[in-house]
Amino acid sequence: MDTRLDGIGMTSARTRERLILRLAEQGIQDAAVLERIRSVPRHIFVDEALASRAYEDTALPLGHGQTISQPYIVARMTEALRAGAAVRSVLEIGTGCGYQTAVLAGLVPQVFTIERIEPLLQRAKSNLREIGIANVRFRHGDGFEGWRAMGPYDSILVAAAPAEVPEELLAQLAPGGRLVMPIGPDGRQRLLRYTRRGTVYEPEDLGAVSFVPMLAGVVGSLG
Ligand code: SAH
Repeated sequence: MDTRLDGIGMTSARTRERLILRLAEQGIQDAAVLERIRSVPRHIFVDEALASRAYEDTALPLGHGQTISQPYIVARMTEALRAGAAVRSVLEIGTGCGYQTAVLAGLVPQVFTIERIEPLLQRAKSNLREIGIANVRFRHGDGFEGWRAMGPYDSILVAAAPAEVPEELLAQLAPGGRLVMPIGPDGRQRLLRYTRRGTVYEPEDLGAVSFVPMLAGVVGSLG
């Protein structure tokens, strides 16, 4: 048994089971999403000093002023992206440590992910390699630009909040595709889902959330 991946004590199967029950109680209904969260070892994505808290339903610090998303939010956004339709591709903006990426990679055949902070992107790559995930393409870049060459996408998920929905991301959605992202300033963010119907983008409000801001430009390995 590989104890680092399987976890022991506070990172064990029983601890993960408690997290899944809690997410279900909070309203997550998509069984495939719950199963995926059960199977992704969140403790390898956080600093060793925080591993014992990896299966608490909280955001945890990642360094560089960023946080690994709360499991409930990861579940909620993934469920909102799937919502009944087949999803063949997803563009993720804000890779962070790669935890949300790993959840998506088990549910969507083709995952594309963009992070503006280079050292975080490198860490995400090595985390995903460690757990044997190979269907993800990474890009160090500014998510406001999306990744036109690989699109259009069935779905786009953004893990950082801008003031307004970026038009460029809407333009990279395939017909019927969905964009799920937080919008708005600190303290007043809403999680929105836009569905593309022809040239119209239908918005739905999925509730209040709290994300780090979406920032323009990139940060290199010395930044
Ligand atoms: N889902 C991630 C956590 C994301 S935190 C996880 O599970 O670890 C949000 C991330 O968005 C941060 O890493 C931040 O650097 C990144 N980010 C913010 N603005 C961005 C932009 N314009 N383009 C790409 N990434 C961005």
